[in-house]
Amino acid sequence: MVKPKEIIKSRRRTIALVIDSDGELIVRAPFYATNYDISRFIEEKENWIWEKSLEARKRMANRPNLTLQEGETISFLGKECVIHRGFVKKVYHDEDSFLLPDTEDAKEKLIAWYKKQAAHILKERVSCYAEQMAVEPCGVRITSAKTRWGSCSYNNHLNFSWRLIMCPLEVVDYVVVHELCHIYHKDHSKSFWNNVSKVDGAYIEHEKWLKDNQRLMDIV
Ligand SMILES: [Zn+2]
Repeated sequence: MVKPKEIIKSRRRTIALVIDSDGELIVRAPFYATNYDISRFIEEKENWIWEKSLEARKRMANRPNLTLQEGETISFLGKECVIHRGFVKKVYHDEDSFLLPDTEDAKEKLIAWYKKQAAHILKERVSCYAEQMAVEPCGVRITSAKTRWGSCSYNNHLNFSWRLIMCPLEVVDYVVVHELCHIYHKDHSKSFWNNVSKVDGAYIEHEKWLKDNQRLMDIV
């Protein structure tokens, strides 16, 4: 029988099975469900579990995760930069390459470098577009979010994932404009998109670019 990784009991009324991104089984069950109930339920759905688990594992294996090896590339503002490893202590970047330390903390240092650039670039773009659009955000924060490029809180704090600066600048600008528009419209209504289109005439293209390149979010 398939062994669940986790059994989560709550006030729900039925048993549900979930396959997580690693292909492992998570069971959600009511407080009163016994181990016997749960194993019978799992047995009944065994074929489904195997099938979904295999799919999830395949997805994981196909994910093009960067290992930051010599010769791999990583994007900065839409430009693919070749990674070199060498006897250096910090991250060096020029137009189309990165030189990273040949030590285990290279990834950490590269992410720190990206975050610093993200803070610098995004603050500048936000203040530029905020002025143009006559809106006043409360502040800009750089996050490590893997599920959203940007967001605007109810009190108009803007958050951006550092991963956004892997995208071309025009796409970065689109996300900035999108979040700034949320200061007036907290939804994605017609008037929201109207406002976006006034500042970014190519917003549909930029939105599509983000959808097509979503894997960038999970690359490092
Ligand atoms: Zn939005």
